Amino acid sequence: MTTPPAIRIDNLVKEYASPGPGEPPKLALKGVSFDVPQGGVFGLLGPNGAGKSTLINILAGLVRKTSGSAEIWGFDIDDNPRNAKRSIGIVPQEIVFDPFFTPFEVLENQGGFYGIGKKDRRSKDLLAAVHLSDKRDAYARTLSGGMKRRLLIAKAMVHSPPILVLDEPTAGVDVELRRQLWELVQELNSEGVTVVLTTHYLEEAEQLCDRIAIINHGELIANKPTKELVGMAREKIVSVSVDKDLGGPIMEEAFLKAEVVNERRLDITYDRDKASAGQVLALVQSHGYAIEDVTTREADLEDVFVQLTGAG
Ligand code: ADP
Ligand code: MG
Repeated sequence: MTTPPAIRIDNLVKEYASPGPGEPPKLALKGVSFDVPQGGVFGLLGPNGAGKSTLINILAGLVRKTSGSAEIWGFDIDDNPRNAKRSIGIVPQEIVFDPFFTPFEVLENQGGFYGIGKKDRRSKDLLAAVHLSDKRDAYARTLSGGMKRRLLIAKAMVHSPPILVLDEPTAGVDVELRRQLWELVQELNSEGVTVVLTTHYLEEAEQLCDRIAIINHGELIANKPTKELVGMAREKIVSVSVDKDLGGPIMEEAFLKAEVVNERRLDITYDRDKASAGQVLALVQSHGYAIEDVTTREADLEDVFVQLTGAG
């Protein structure tokens, strides 16, 4: 038996109404389908305006889809909205808080909202989990941006959902806080929570997610394990240092590009399906140069992204 997916999205379409006379409606999702498997960290990657928040907000029940269907933990969002909502915790892209509540009160109120009895609430544990115990009684408005984001994560986990969704958790966040948030995500995931995060940072998706779906202009253009996606980049680069000054660029049929970096260094791009690094080096040597140093660059997600979206 196969495990059912944490989230199933089927042919999801969202058309936003025209913002005013003479302006066309906006087709933000053009029939997107994918499953989020249970237990992993799933990245929904795409540039600004791709449709990521629209998709998340449909799951959250904040935006009405135009057509298509979605299931959360097996519950259809139309047929079983209550159970669907109970199965997911969502951290929205925008930070919104009532500034006069303390972190402890924010979590208690949210517990009340979900009908969790006072003695069953986990506010204290949740504050500890997001490293905010010492801020338990501070006003939310006095928290730093990073603390607010962590409090939002705790708030999303109040009803112990099996799925946590973070919409652009690290947009506009400094390096240190980003590291903290990544750790928190990994901690929650290791405790069994299925995590979905949207991001427009390739590096973030590559480091954090075991599976990545890419959307661009409202269309799904990839959905693969991160390793496979990164492996899709066919181009490889070898940077070669030679023993004497280069007379000029060396071009060979096997090279896609040969770029002179300085008098003695050459970056050669080749198709890894058609040539090997060894062949590339042999070709350089055949021009009468001895090789003093070699570094290769593995294709990364950015290469794939550029190939798939035609951006760059
Ligand atoms: P992302 O989160 O990937 O940056 P969004 O889902 O926010 O993308 O937006 C997708 C597209 O839908 C964009 O072109 C955006 O301008 C448009 N859009 C988003 N929200 C609305 C709205 N409430 N009304 C009209 N258009 C919207
Ligand atoms: Mg967004």
